[in-house]
Amino acid sequence: MILICGAGILGLSIAKCLLEEGAENILIIEKEGDIGFHASGRNSGVLHAGIYYTPDSLKAKLCLKGNLLMRYFCKEKGIPLIEAGKVIVTKKEEEIKTLMELYSRARR
Ligand SMILES: Cc1cc2nc3c(=O)[nH]c(=O)nc-3n(C[C@H](O)[C@H](O)[C@H](O)COP(=O)(O)OP(=O)(O)OC[C@H]3O[C@@H](n4cnc5c(N)ncnc54)[C@H](O)[C@@H]3O)c2cc1C
Repeated sequence: MILICGAGILGLSIAKCLLEEGAENILIIEKEGDIGFHASGRNSGVLHAGIYYTPDSLKAKLCLKGNLLMRYFCKEKGIPLIEAGKVIVTKKEEEIKTLMELYSRARR
């Protein structure tokens, strides 16, 4: 028996992966009456690009990979997806250096 605590996006995704790998007898325990009651059901619905993570870090790579996989998933399942890009602005001149760094990360 595999026990998973929490029916948020992580718990359900892990359960799905385990099922696809052939696991049986998975039990998901959720303290709420339904799924997605916490962060997973309340987030802003943005597919992050990982631009704020250290370049080439595992976090940045996984974020980008997840972004592409989720786009594919949405298209395959007919889930509406707005591909509007991202606008990052500065409020002060001193932030322009940081902005240029983010621009170069985005290009990469
Ligand atoms: C306001 C907000 C906006 C966000 N916007 C974005 C966004 O735009 N894009 C993005 O990618 N990410 C966003 N995030 C982050 C993203 O939503 C979370 O990283 C993700 O949902 C976390 O999933 P999770 O399964 O770990 O947590 P949760 O969805 O919180 O799931 C945890 C589950 O565990 C259950 N649980 C807890 N304790 C127990 C227990 N003792 N026994 C049984 N069950 C238990 C809870 O009830 C819950 O269902 C946002 C987060 C917030 C809060």
